[in-house]
Amino acid sequence: MTAAHLAAGNVPVVLVDGSGRLGRGVAYSTTEPVHLLNVASAKMSAWPDQPDHFARWCGDEEGATFVERRAFGRYLGEQLAAAPGVDAVKAMALDARRQDDGWDVTLSDGRRIAASALVLAQGNQPPTPFPGSAALPPELFFNNPWSDAAHAGVERVAAEGSDVLILGTGLTMVDTVLSLVAAGHQGRITALSRRGLIPRAHVHPPAAPAPVELNEVPQGNVLALWRWLRARSAAVGFRAVIDALRPHSHALWQQLPAEEQRRFMRHARPWWDVHRHRIAPQVAEQLRELVAAGRLEIVAGRVGLMEAVDGRLKVAISRRDGRKVVREVGAAFNCTGPLGDLRRTADPLLRSLLDQGAIRTDTFAMGLDVDDRSRAGERLWALGPLTKGRYWEIVAVPDIRHQAQAVAADIQKDQPSHV
Ligand SMILES: Cc1cc2nc3c(=O)[nH]c(=O)nc-3n(C[C@H](O)[C@H](O)[C@H](O)COP(=O)(O)OP(=O)(O)OC[C@H]3O[C@@H](n4cnc5c(N)ncnc54)[C@H](O)[C@@H]3O)c2cc1C
Repeated sequence: MTAAHLAAGNVPVVLVDGSGRLGRGVAYSTTEPVHLLNVASAKMSAWPDQPDHFARWCGDEEGATFVERRAFGRYLGEQLAAAPGVDAVKAMALDARRQDDGWDVTLSDGRRIAASALVLAQGNQPPTPFPGSAALPPELFFNNPWSDAAHAGVERVAAEGSDVLILGTGLTMVDTVLSLVAAGHQGRITALSRRGLIPRAHVHPPAAPAPVELNEVPQGNVLALWRWLRARSAAVGFRAVIDALRPHSHALWQQLPAEEQRRFMRHARPWWDVHRHRIAPQVAEQLRELVAAGRLEIVAGRVGLMEAVDGRLKVAISRRDGRKVVREVGAAFNCTGPLGDLRRTADPLLRSLLDQGAIRTDTFAMGLDVDDRSRAGERLWALGPLTKGRYWEIVAVPDIRHQAQAVAADIQKDQPSHV
């Protein structure tokens, strides 16, 4: 999106992605029709000033459909193809050094690019290995649920009909369950997280909007905000309340002192996430049916010892209700979410920039320390999930598209004349 905005302003752009997902990223490069957007088409336009652009693109007049994610990938691809002057390079960015007023970027194909501005739009980082998984065979324990290996694991357990363990009960768990079912898996799936909370569903027709002004919402204190949320949810429903906070989410987050932000992360985040990032109604229905049929069990608890025995994984689980169970599964998938501590990133570009001191992580190391214009350093911008520390709600298209437009404008404003 940023590249397209820059191109529209006649700024030559080199777009670098060596993952084979150029322009689509992790979310929209899925080829599986069962993977749906978790946001209705009315809110998925790439262009902030044409909010119905995507809904029109997919012929969804009402804008209430949860379209296949791969279709959104095609849409993004078309936006990019229509942008003049974007040089798309299939390579990884390995290193970047300050040079003159800009950056000298080294790519995995040996190419070097001299750029007057550098934008880090690297999305979520792959998850850290699940504790206790290091010694397990990689064909049984899949630490990266978005990898080709995990995809092959899904096909294998579906063919075998063996049981499966999913660690994490959020959106990635939902994706993995849908993939298993689509592959014909008939075994039992156990999905486990500390609280066993799963994403709530969107409803159709959508909840009637109940907008609020920022000054109506308690600021600076998580408990007060939480109480307000509960009271207002009782009056207008949680969906309307959460949606009404979207325009204010950056301000509300930034007005929390660091200690309150920490409190939010520690106590409120799991609840916030499942209410905020909801799933399509038909997906929620499918999950309900799987649970009712005994094929999917959502467990609150913790994993204990995991060991490989005769080509299976034996996993001890301590349930929150005090019971201890052991499951033997054909595969386990780490769906606990992307890397939470950016200081541990394995990405060579981020590593290099961190080691040089050209960028810093934010207070919680969720992402990068950026200013109010998403600048991470000199002639250096960051976007999307990398900027969670500053904005918190900046991981989905309805938020990122505004940031992409603003960053493109900022780059152009400060563009040196000698590019
Ligand atoms: C499974 C899943 C489903 C989602 N569904 C939705 C949804 O329905 N609606 C919604 O609004 N949001 C959804 N999201 C949120 C999603 O993350 C954002 O919508 C958006 O895709 C983030 O875009 P991005 O460009 O910041 O990162 P990404 O889309 O992740 O793109 C980053 C790209 O950078 C590449 N890269 C990283 N490092 C380097 C490097 N050093 N050199 C070269 N390339 C590099 C990566 O390989 C990747 O292709 C979903 C996220 C996930 C993970």
